[in-house]
Amino acid sequence: MIKKIITIEEHFTLREISKRVIDFNTKQIGGNSSANGIQKELMALVLPTPDDIEDVGERRIKFMDESGIDMQLLSYGGSSPQNVADIALAIELCKEANNELADFIKQRPARFGGFAVLPVMDVNAACEELERAVNELGLRGAMISGTCNGRFFDEPAFFPIFSKAEVLGVPIYMHPAIIPKAIAEHYYQSENWPAVAGAMFASAGYGWHLDSGIGILRLIASAIFDKLPDLKIISGHWGELVPFFLNRLDDQLGKTLQLDRKISDYYRSNIYITPSGLFSESQLQFAISEVGADQIIYSGDYPFLIDKRTKSFLENASISNEAKEKIAYKNAEKLLRL
Ligand code: CA
Repeated sequence: MIKKIITIEEHFTLREISKRVIDFNTKQIGGNSSANGIQKELMALVLPTPDDIEDVGERRIKFMDESGIDMQLLSYGGSSPQNVADIALAIELCKEANNELADFIKQRPARFGGFAVLPVMDVNAACEELERAVNELGLRGAMISGTCNGRFFDEPAFFPIFSKAEVLGVPIYMHPAIIPKAIAEHYYQSENWPAVAGAMFASAGYGWHLDSGIGILRLIASAIFDKLPDLKIISGHWGELVPFFLNRLDDQLGKTLQLDRKISDYYRSNIYITPSGLFSESQLQFAISEVGADQIIYSGDYPFLIDKRTKSFLENASISNEAKEKIAYKNAEKLLRL
């Protein structure tokens, strides 16, 4: 019997903030193009109901109780203010979102913790907000969604955000998000399948996972962990396809990079991976054998996935009890100082 379950990639949104983000973005890109129509069709397929994602009260607690979850670490879901192009607005909305998240947590500190959302386009503001979120609001790190409007976070301009995280002793969770249009079109669209399938292929179906995994590899390749050896990064969906290729990355890409250690060494010490609700035993077994149970933390991706097997999946898995306890809560408690 596992003592407790802590899941760390669980989302909420705030109606008023998401509305202001969507209103701003709609004004930016203009009205009713067919691309917008396809995006809407996709969103109808992947987004949870507002009732599920906006609730940080009884409805969510009921799901947690029924699924054996003791604590959720919350982060902002879709329509996050992170990348709003009006920087002053992004800063304002991120602060507001983090304040509200801290209020939710204050009401039920035993059941919830959280990751901050950061206005990454203004790196100084993002660093200040991370510090405020951790030191004043008690949040446990930050979640960064996708890229900064197409810019990967290994760009030297973003280095202070990671440096700040290392100083504060908190991890950054790198979460997938919409990828640039030209890449989506090149790799994922075809006349052989419907446009909405192309949009899904480019996002939750495959593309944004690959993109997020590449983002992690770019951080490693940039030598960020040589400069910030204590920096911890979290990657969902069992590591966004990267763990499967560590040997090849060491053998080939590794030859050409100027790093102190092997790519897989950084991966196995600076990166934590989580299932994001992909409750597959073969992926669990593979993750343990490839990165080790010390680098795996549990997550369910509620309410994008609503799966009540959260506790039973781990309890029934054919892995050691020691590995179960580490994945279920011990690694999270240690990394997030819960
Ligand atoms: Ca998620």
